[in-house]
Amino acid sequence: MTERILLSPPVFDGNEQGFVRDAFSVSNISTYGNLLVQFEAKLLAFTEGYQALATNSGTSALHLAMRLIGIKPGDEVICQSFTFCASANPICYQGAIPVFVDSESETWNMDPVLLEEAIIQRLKKGKKPKAIVVVDLYGMPAKFDQILSLADKYQIPVIEDAAEALGSKYKGKFCSSFGAFGVFSFNGNKIITTGSGGCLVSSDSEAIKKAKYLALQAKDNVHFYRHQEIGYNYCMSNLSAAVGLGQLEKLEEKVRSRRKTYERYVQMFSDFEGINLLAEPEGVRSNRWLSTITIDKAVTGFDHEDVRQALAAQQIESRYLWNPLHLQPIFKGCPYFGGNVAESLFNIGLCLPSGEMLSELDQERIVGIIKSLRKV
Ligand SMILES: *Cc1c(COP(=O)(O)O)cnc(C)c1O
Repeated sequence: MTERILLSPPVFDGNEQGFVRDAFSVSNISTYGNLLVQFEAKLLAFTEGYQALATNSGTSALHLAMRLIGIKPGDEVICQSFTFCASANPICYQGAIPVFVDSESETWNMDPVLLEEAIIQRLKKGKKPKAIVVVDLYGMPAKFDQILSLADKYQIPVIEDAAEALGSKYKGKFCSSFGAFGVFSFNGNKIITTGSGGCLVSSDSEAIKKAKYLALQAKDNVHFYRHQEIGYNYCMSNLSAAVGLGQLEKLEEKVRSRRKTYERYVQMFSDFEGINLLAEPEGVRSNRWLSTITIDKAVTGFDHEDVRQALAAQQIESRYLWNPLHLQPIFKGCPYFGGNVAESLFNIGLCLPSGEMLSELDQERIVGIIKSLRKV
């Protein structure tokens, strides 16, 4: 029996258990505690020194960003279409409307040309977008020079959904640091995990303070319970932070390992026409959270579903790329700017196993199975 190979399983080879024992020893496992303080302090090393508020998910961090920017019912918020639904859902939590924008093919993230088109068209309708949600998909940073200059030109705050991009860099700066707010996720299959968790990042320490207040049920600083605003239960627990401390110590190793995995896939497919991997643009360091391929069926004679099934038959997990949000039934009727870049990537792409424990032998097996699908 060969073992099942998962897409991106968590690896706990740091001092996670030691930190968790610490959490129990001080009987402080909930939303206050020394490990939370330490975890938020350690995160500074990956946020350009901007403050981080640890949250119970990436989604809740995104929601806090929406709330702090002041997104209100009926507002419009521009959002990358090629992403997970959690990038857009918090827009709807605030009663606002997502305006979706297609990707460019160099990074698979928001196309700056289409972004400006969207802004100009909405302005003509008398609707100034209240925020722009840009994603660093699969760890690949978006084109921030262009996007931030547009955000500046039209004075619209950017929320950077860096849920998949902890440890990635764009022109020497860590992802999460490019907008008014940045967000990481520490969910189960992300590059580090706290079981479930995330964080909100900002250079505005007052905003982070306000976020913490909102995340702790908006309780006034008095000795009894008094509330003047609707808050949330969005903070991370001390117990989760303990796991995060162990994970964070190994982040650099995890990034190196995933980048190596990507390089090996490139090598192994280099003699095989019709399968492509996304290269890094100049000045960019992706954490390569997931290695993805696109398949040109006209050349290979097989498509991503053939590959998915062939791998699944050998107990190997692979997954389609994100299904663009403007095509989701739930977002039908939302404005959309773009063509079919994201849609065609969805139709030809596949995420391959990318975890740190994946051996070179595993990779050879995976690539061998894929190559064997070519019948000629
Ligand atoms: C995982 C993810 C999120 C949500 O994070 P959770 O911690 O699962 O709430 C948001 N955006 C993107 C792009 C993600 O991949």
